[in-house]
Amino acid sequence: MPNKGACKANECEREVIAKGYCRKHYRLWKAGEMPKTRYKTCTGENCRKKRFKGSLCEEHWTAAHGKSAAAEAAPAAASA
Ligand SMILES: [Zn+2]
Ligand SMILES: [Zn+2]
Repeated sequence: MPNKGACKANECEREVIAKGYCRKHYRLWKAGEMPKTRYKTCTGENCRKKRFKGSLCEEHWTAAHGKSAAAEAAPAAASA
């Protein structure tokens, strides 16, 4: 595990005071403003999905790697 003393909010390295958050983020957390994640989240912009591979969620990982599960359900198969 990385340094336990750092806030677990994205890109925040303040000292933890409670629940894994710094003072500022703990307050947000209590106010319900923080995502309730127990997992690492995607590093994609404004994305809070669970990580799929590396630092990306399935959606962003797929986008980054060009192939997708969605590609198999291509619109070409629009048979009536
Ligand atoms: Zn913080
Ligand atoms: Zn994502």
